[in-house]
Amino acid sequence: MGLEKQLVSIVVPVYNEQENIDSFYQEVVKHMEPMKYDFELIFVDDGSKDATPLILERLAHSDKRVRALILARNFGHQIALTCGLDHAEGHAVITMDGDMQHPPEMLPALIARWEAGFQVVQTVRINTEGVSWFKSFTSGMFYKLMNAMSNIEVAEGGSDFRLLDKQVVDSFRRFRERARFIRGMISAIGYRQTKLEFIAPKRFAGHSKFSLKRMLHFALDGITAYSKLPLRFAFYLGIILGFGSIGLTLHVLYIKFLTSEAVPGWATITASILLLGGMQLAGIGIIGEYVGRIFEEVKQRPLYWLAAEISQQKERNKM
Ligand code: UDP
Ligand code: MG
Repeated sequence: MGLEKQLVSIVVPVYNEQENIDSFYQEVVKHMEPMKYDFELIFVDDGSKDATPLILERLAHSDKRVRALILARNFGHQIALTCGLDHAEGHAVITMDGDMQHPPEMLPALIARWEAGFQVVQTVRINTEGVSWFKSFTSGMFYKLMNAMSNIEVAEGGSDFRLLDKQVVDSFRRFRERARFIRGMISAIGYRQTKLEFIAPKRFAGHSKFSLKRMLHFALDGITAYSKLPLRFAFYLGIILGFGSIGLTLHVLYIKFLTSEAVPGWATITASILLLGGMQLAGIGIIGEYVGRIFEEVKQRPLYWLAAEISQQKERNKM
């Protein structure tokens, strides 16, 4: 490597963050410039409808360390992150949010762990200022469920603020599934991993882009990608109910042939029809969920496509 400095890439997906980008950029520069590394700051614009792409273009023109990847439309946070990881050239790649909830002053601490020999530095949020009890409760429940149902371990409060060594990034790039829960993928990828705790401050400006519906979809992606337990659950339930219905049949035969009260049985019948019907629908729903996911994956569509890549480097290459 000689005298050439090592490169650290910082990947930031942004969606309608026009009020945040300038201060985020200044903070990153402030904390990265004193370090002994070169850095590139890769913004992935996830189909923003506000002035975000214009701000990114201005930054990329004024600072050759800034690269702006403009996606053709909104693909969602996890895909935008993937796009950034695909394009990053650094010896280490850090992914973080652009709203200051992943504090740029943590950057030197992440890099220090990398220098100490770790290849995955995963941050864990121990507290988010000003988050509703509902969000912290549901997210806590989700991680408990996720860890109970799958054979991977995802830290409660795990976030997409992490450092990956180039070797890990190269492996990660070969994972091309559409439904991605990057936290789980990284946890399962191996290599030398470590955790670093942090307190997430409030968003700098604007509002969270994750509605309840999006959180729920994200949680489903996580669970179905790493667990076949729901499918097995329907199977086991079927077996238990099957045995149950043998008992019920014996009871019916007993009433029919050994007693004289054959008519009053409608309650049992109605109850068991409802129960079985409900269980069957639930089972079909679970299977449907997985079939739908198979359908999405077998199409093998590209994960994302770019409308533009703006960077001084790129323009120089074209000349
Ligand atoms: N984001 C994105 N695409 C989306 C939604 C969000 O790239 O469809 C970005 C967003 O601009 C931010 C990061 O992902 O930089 C985290 O989003 P947000 O702050 O809304 O999530 P929260 O912190 O509330 O979980
Ligand atoms: Mg945020």
